[in-house]
Amino acid sequence: MNTYRDFDNYLKEYPSEDGFFGEYGGNYLDNPELVKAFHEYAEGYNTIAQSSQFIAELRRIRKEFQGRPTPLYHCQKLSNLLGKTQIYLKREDLNHTGAHKLNHCMGEGLLAKYMGKKKLIAETGAGQHGVALATAAAYFGLECDIYMGEVDIAKQAPNVARMKLLGARVIPVSSGLKTLKEAVDAAFEAYSREYRNAIYCIGTAAGPHPFPLMVRDFQQVIGDEARSQFIEMTGHLPDKVIACVGGGSNSIGTFVPFLADPVELYGVEPLGRGPRLGDNAASINFGKVGVMHGFNSYMLASEDGSPAPVYSNASGLDYPAAGPEHALLHDLHRVNYVTIDDNEAIEALFLLSRVEGIIPAIESSHALAYALKVAREGRPNSAIVTLSGRGDKDLDYVMENYGDGTEFLAKRGIKL
Ligand SMILES: *Cc1c(COP(=O)(O)O)cnc(C)c1O
Repeated sequence: MNTYRDFDNYLKEYPSEDGFFGEYGGNYLDNPELVKAFHEYAEGYNTIAQSSQFIAELRRIRKEFQGRPTPLYHCQKLSNLLGKTQIYLKREDLNHTGAHKLNHCMGEGLLAKYMGKKKLIAETGAGQHGVALATAAAYFGLECDIYMGEVDIAKQAPNVARMKLLGARVIPVSSGLKTLKEAVDAAFEAYSREYRNAIYCIGTAAGPHPFPLMVRDFQQVIGDEARSQFIEMTGHLPDKVIACVGGGSNSIGTFVPFLADPVELYGVEPLGRGPRLGDNAASINFGKVGVMHGFNSYMLASEDGSPAPVYSNASGLDYPAAGPEHALLHDLHRVNYVTIDDNEAIEALFLLSRVEGIIPAIESSHALAYALKVAREGRPNSAIVTLSGRGDKDLDYVMENYGDGTEFLAKRGIKL
C-alpha cells in the first residue's frame, strides 16, 4: 500500500516524456502523418503552454470569460437529511456553458492560437464537447469543424443548433452505425490531412499523448480551487473527494491536487443496468488492459479486441475506456473506483433538485449518488463532490423515463 507521501513527486514522474503513466497511455497510432502531427502538438504544449504569457492569458480568460472560480457550496440541508457526511459541491455547472468541458477547450483554443493554427477539429457524441469547443473557437476567432454521426445529429437537435449558432460546421458522418465511434475515425482522418493548419481537440483525458497530460493540466483548475476553498471554509482538508469518470477529465482534474494529501479519492463509474458486458460503461471495474483509440488503458472490449458496446443513462459517461492516468492510479491503489447504477444516479438528481434547488447533469449525479451512499452508512466526515455539469440537457429524457421525481422517490421510500 502506498502512503500519501509517495505522491510528493508524482507529477514529476508521470507521465514519462513519451506520455506513459506506468504502462498506460503512450501513442499507438500507426498513421505516420498522425504520429508527426501529435509530436508537433506535444512539442507545442511542452514549450508554449508553460510560458508565463500563456499562463497569465489563460488565467484572465478563466476569470473574465468562464466566470471562475466556480463556488464550492456546502449542501447543509441534503447533508442533514441523509446522515453525517457534510457534502460540499464543486459547482462546475456554473462554469460558462454549464459544464467542466470548457476548462480544457479554452486551453486548447489558446494553444491553437499561439501555435498559429486557424482551425479546431473534433468529434462529438451527445454534442457537449462540440458545444464547448465551438464556444472556444468563437472566442478565439478560429474555424471549427465538428464531426458527428447522423444518428446523433438527429437525436441531439438543441446541441446541433448551439454549435451552428456559435459558427461551427457540423459535418455529418454516415458510415457504420453513424454514431460516436465513426465520428472519431472521421475526425482523426480529417486531422491527418489538415494538421498543418488545424489542431484536433479531444473531449476527455484520453487518446494518444499529449491529450491525457494536457487535458489533466487544463482541468486541474477544478481541484486547485476546490482544495483552497474547502480549507478556507473549514480550516482543514476533506475526508473524501468524489467525481464521476467517463473518459476521466473532470475527475483527474479534481484528484491531482489531493494526491499527496491524506484524503480518500473516489472515481465513480456508471454501472448502467448491471455488470454484464454491454449494460454498463465501468471500464476500470469490468474492463481489461488493451490498446484502443491510440492509447493503452483499461477498456471494455469485445472478444476480437474492438471497443465493446457500452451503456449508461448518462451519455457523457458511456465511453468504453478510462483515461490512462486512472488506470495507473487504480493500480497504485490511490483512487478507489466504485460504481453507481442508472437508478441511484436518478435518485440523486431528484434529491439535489428538490432539497437544494440545483438540477445536476445525470453524469454528475453519479458522483453525488456515491456521496449519498457514504452519508447513509458512515461515521461523521466530509466530502467534496465535483458537480461536473448542469442538468438542463437531460430534462426531456428524465421526464419521459422517470417522471418529475414524486413517484420515483416515494417508491424508493424517501420522504422529504
Ligand atoms: C462529458 C461529461 C462528463 C464525462 O467526461 P469526463 O471526461 O469523464 O469528465 C461528465 N459530466 C458532464 C456534465 C459531461 O458533460
